[in-house]
This record gives sequence, structure tokens and C-alpha cells, in this order.
Amino acid sequence: MSVLPSCPAWCTDHRQAGHPDDSLCRTRSVSDAYGETVMTYTPDEGAIVWLYNTRDELTVDEAEQLARALLAQVAAARSTS
Ligand SMILES: [Zn+2]
Repeated sequence: MSVLPSCPAWCTDHRQAGHPDDSLCRTRSVSDAYGETVMTYTPDEGAIVWLYNTRDELTVDEAEQLARALLAQVAAARSTS
């Protein structure tokens, strides 16, 4: 389900700026339960996980959902490194 042939399998939201080097592989996980976590990859920086609008207070169930989303992105990163 990669966006470009050169993308890792997890890249579902590829961003391409003007310059060929400004190519950013992304995958997002968005949930009302916890907010948003995005993983990006560039050859220079490698894989980075970003937290956006993440809620400060989570129930145990919501914390579990966030943890699972993060672990899924970590597993994806590990599978391509
Ligand atoms: Zn990509």
C-alpha cells in the first residue's frame, strides 16, 4: 500500500515538496481516544514518531489504544530499518 515504489510498506500519506530531496514518508493514526500520532521517515533523519494534540488525561482503555498505535508505528519502523 506504499504511495511510491520507493516507499516503505507503511507509508500511507507521502509528502513530496518541490526538491527531490524533500520527500517525506508518513503514516498517521488519529483517534478521538488519544489524539494523533504520526511517523515520518527521511534518509537523513530516519524514522521519527510525532505526537500531535495528544490528550493529557487518558483512561486505561484510551492509554492502551495510544500504546498500541505507537507500538504499531515502532514495529513498522523496525521492519524497514
Ligand atoms: Zn513514502
